[in-house]
Amino acid sequence: MVERTRFMLDEEKIPRFWYNIAADLPAGVEQSPPLHPMTHQPLTPPDLAPLFPMALIMQEVSTEREIEIPGPVRDIYTTFRPSPLVRARRLEKALDTPAHIYFKYEGLSPAGSHKPNTAIAQAFYNKEEGIKRIATETGAGQWGSALAAAGAMFGIEVKVYMVRASYNQKPYRRILMETYGASVVASPSMDTESGRAILAQHPDSPGSLGIAISEAVEDTMKRDDTHYSLGSVLNHVMLHQTVIGEESILQMEMAGEEPDVIIACAGGGSNFAGLAFPWVGRTLRGGRKYQVIAVEPLAAPSLTRGKYMYDYGDTAKMAPVAKMYTLGHDFVPEPIHAGGLRYHGMSPLVSLLKHHNLIEARSVHQIPCFQAGVLFARNEGILPAPESTHAIRAAIDVALDCKASGEAKVILFNLSGHGHFDLSAYEAYLSGKLEDYEYPAKEIKEALAHAG
Ligand SMILES: *Cc1c(COP(=O)(O)O)cnc(C)c1O
Repeated sequence: MVERTRFMLDEEKIPRFWYNIAADLPAGVEQSPPLHPMTHQPLTPPDLAPLFPMALIMQEVSTEREIEIPGPVRDIYTTFRPSPLVRARRLEKALDTPAHIYFKYEGLSPAGSHKPNTAIAQAFYNKEEGIKRIATETGAGQWGSALAAAGAMFGIEVKVYMVRASYNQKPYRRILMETYGASVVASPSMDTESGRAILAQHPDSPGSLGIAISEAVEDTMKRDDTHYSLGSVLNHVMLHQTVIGEESILQMEMAGEEPDVIIACAGGGSNFAGLAFPWVGRTLRGGRKYQVIAVEPLAAPSLTRGKYMYDYGDTAKMAPVAKMYTLGHDFVPEPIHAGGLRYHGMSPLVSLLKHHNLIEARSVHQIPCFQAGVLFARNEGILPAPESTHAIRAAIDVALDCKASGEAKVILFNLSGHGHFDLSAYEAYLSGKLEDYEYPAKEIKEALAHAG
């Protein structure tokens, strides 16, 4: 008999509802409201209306457990969902581990990552509200390409502020976005006041997600026809990504196993939340507890080394103030290749779960991540995104612990995207030019001193 390796669901099994973990938070685990960046008063839906369509604002504050996925969004999901769940049998053999390793593969979407799960939903709701143009930021270019593709599908113009370090490292991501019809500038740019202010002080600034968010928010506030869109961090983004975890629950059932350990990398928290929240929800509703691990780079370690406090979502203090793990809104991480993980903050929902020990976090250097990514590619054939190698590193470490202890744990991790646009990073690794930046203790201490 052939051993099953790939667990596929039929199209009709694509979830009809997103899962909202806010419905299942236990007593004492309470969300703190986001605050207005100028007044520091709790934000009201009308405060957010210049930025987002009302449907998304309502999702942001919703405590309904299930939120229906609109038909047109689900129709587009069918072009690349359900995503496969794969058992990494060859990797297990290479590691000589008794552990069973499963991964959910989000790299088959148009942008090559999980990001279209929310980009399509966000473009849909903006279209419904008559919005003609969306401004956004992108780190590694993954979010920009997802939104550019979704904008093209719904006839919405997209302007992308792309973090300069990535703009220089990854020209093909820019070309992909332009092919979808988006316009792209390197951030900090001369197109906004906040960009010009930073360039005046730091002409060589590599940029950061915090800076790029400031530029996109400023662009939005200055135009009536434009909304803003964020690819991670916000509650509605976590919500849209839960299709990943919901599918994985059905697929693990097909495999006849239940995970002991659930792992994903975390930049703003969305692919982590997407995979983990539906499982954590089962625990919160009285089910068994899983070990759930968010993995972040040591160069931008918000969950493991940041402070849980109110801080701005962006550098220029224009975005809402949220209670989250933060390294300080003016912290600029080193230009590591996992551009999607270079953010000073973390999703407030993911932060809340971490603060209450409902999940764990680890941080790792980039070289061991690339080592794990290359081992994975040579055994499973998929070249992972640099961000995703953080999850692979942790999955391998757990599997090696199993080898030492003889435990046959079941590991489930999210392979959030492929690395076909990240070959210059792999080249740097293969030629021995990749460096591990020292943990930036001093910079984080300074940035935290003016956080909040
Ligand atoms: C953007 C991105 C991430 C990080 O963002 P999260 O919101 O934390 O998921 C991770 N992996 C890939 C492939 C990405 O594109």
